[in-house]
Formats: sequence, C-alpha cells, structure tokens
Amino acid sequence: MSHFPESQNQHLHAFAFSHARFEHSRLKQKPAVIWMTGISASGKSTIADALDIALQEQGRITAIIDGDSVRGGLCRDLGFTDSDRDENIRRVAEVARLMLEAGLIVIVALISPSSASRHYARSIIGNEFFIEVHVDVPLETAEHRDPKGLYKKARAGLIKHFTGIDSHYDVPVFPEVHLDTQALSVAQSVETILDWVTRHDDHT
Ligand code: ADP
Repeated sequence: MSHFPESQNQHLHAFAFSHARFEHSRLKQKPAVIWMTGISASGKSTIADALDIALQEQGRITAIIDGDSVRGGLCRDLGFTDSDRDENIRRVAEVARLMLEAGLIVIVALISPSSASRHYARSIIGNEFFIEVHVDVPLETAEHRDPKGLYKKARAGLIKHFTGIDSHYDVPVFPEVHLDTQALSVAQSVETILDWVTRHDDHT
C-alpha cells in the first residue's frame, strides 16, 4: 500500500518557476538527482563516494545524501516498516529537490526498495532531473560481501524487515542506468554514470 499523497501540483509549479533560475545560474552545470537504488552491499555508497570525487574533479558542485547518514539525523525517528521507509524516501526526495533548486548535482544512495516510492521521488524531483541508477548485484554476492555484517544479523533474526531477506525489493524496470556491480569495477560504474551526466548536460 502506498502512503503517498496524490497531488504534487504545488511542487510542479514551484519547480517550473525555479527552473528558470538555472538558465542564468553562475553554476555552469545542469542540476540533477542521481538516485542510486539497490539492496544493501550492492555498492551504492562506494560508487556514490567515487562518483562524487570524479564529478568534483570535473569542476562540478555536488552533494551526497546517504541513507545511513540520514537515518542518524533527519530520519532518526523512523524505522523500517513499509510506511516508515516511504516517509524516509519522501524526506530525502524533498531535501534532494531543495539542493537541486540550488543548482547542485545530488547523489542519493538509498536502498529505496519500493517502485512506488521511487516513482514518488521522481515526481517530487521532476522527470527531467531524475537519473535512476539501479546498483544491481545478486543477493548471494551482497550477502558474501556483507561489509557491515548486516546480512549475518538479519539471517540470525537480529534485524527485522531486512531488504532481500524478509522485506521485498522491487527491481527497477526502466532505470536510466543499470550497473551490474558483479561485472563492473567501481571505476567502470563511475564512468557509466559520468557518460549519462554528460549526455544529460547536452539536453539542457
Ligand atoms: P551499499 O551502500 O549498497 O550498502 P556499500 O558501498 O556500503 O553498499 O558496500 C559495498 C561493498 O562491496 C563494499 O565493501 C565494496 O568495497 C564492495 N565491492 C566489491 N566489488 C564492488 C564493485 N564492483 N562495486 C561496488 N562495490 C564493490
């Protein structure tokens, strides 16, 4: 069940207005939200950090919103039930939108397991600025990597509602970018997204 309000008209109007400002912005970049979705340990944070460095080396102004860090602050009152996850995503999308309006390239690293919530995030941010990146890996590989020992805890029943174990992940159907992190190195994943950002610039 979706917990999202239906109307986003007020956002669309505000956004159309502020979009005009980008044309005259001192920031010579087309703002974007690079929304990285995938199961835990798929590589979202690792690729987000490397991408951030690569974009800054190109002279771009960026920001990262990482799921783990928002859970310690902005969303610390939320748990991992479906409705709390939806609210988590809604808040992140709203913050990303504010950063977008300031002209930044925003990298979001968030499991964001439900397609409805990703669709909602896209509607808040605007289709033109939303780059959905599916950071894809088989569950077995993620579980084998398990850099934070979370899968082990979930298998032992110490963590409930863990995506891939006892909570569902909706595989993105038409993401703008698909990364198979079993086949691609971190550098290759970054290159793939950079290509997309460059093409996004060309469509200003
Ligand atoms: P997430 O943010 O999706 O939970 P992390 O980036 O925190 O994932 O963890 C992914 C782990 O997998 C890291 O320890 C990273 O070094 C490792 N890893 C191994 N190969 C790759 C790859 N090709 N791409 C991304 N991460 C990889």
